[in-house]
Amino acid sequence: MNYSGGLHHAMARRAHGFCIYNDPAIVCATLADRGMKVAYVDIDAHHGDGVQAAFYDTDQVLNISLHESGETLFPGTGFASERGRGKGAGFSINVALPGYTDDAAYMRAFDAVVPPLVERYRPDVLVTQQGIDPHFTDPLTHLQISTRTREHAVRWFMRSPYPWVAMGGGGYSMDAVRRTWALEFLIMLDAPIPEELHDADPPMWTGPERRAIDEITDHAVRDALAAAW
Ligand SMILES: [Zn+2]
Repeated sequence: MNYSGGLHHAMARRAHGFCIYNDPAIVCATLADRGMKVAYVDIDAHHGDGVQAAFYDTDQVLNISLHESGETLFPGTGFASERGRGKGAGFSINVALPGYTDDAAYMRAFDAVVPPLVERYRPDVLVTQQGIDPHFTDPLTHLQISTRTREHAVRWFMRSPYPWVAMGGGGYSMDAVRRTWALEFLIMLDAPIPEELHDADPPMWTGPERRAIDEITDHAVRDALAAAW
């Protein structure tokens, strides 16, 4: 685990989105060059556009990014229609979530896309980018997940049978960052998680907002799955 890594926006020849060198792309390429099949899962609030660009033409890296839709957030990309090309067609998977996606909707989207596609791909290694800017207190984004969603996602990474390289990413609410980093390290150590690391009162939609968020999220999931190889 390298929490200072995960600089997923940098392009091969230019800095982009607070990122100069794209360490997740370098790690994935190093592993792929050794003949390994790499599953890259990016749960930062922003689309992992630099990593997607690096592996758009290859099936040796499965690139799954769950993020806030490019309609409302930098870098403006990451739609399901961006699915790779040539040998890479169907190996770039983009789940473009609506702003205000909360724990319930996010966990459903994660479960519908990440475990089935990673298991179908049968990678030799799992690489994850774990930006914590989808947190509901983050000042830069509009997703509304809490530490509960992060525990759910990181426990799946931990339980999966693949060797695992994890990185940090964005995260601009210092309180959310410190608690989430601690919580994720404890999951990796298989240690108990003290209740005070969790958000006490995460947002949860009800009524018509609940139905609207679920409907748009399910649509994003369907589009992402339909684009897969
Ligand atoms: Zn981000």
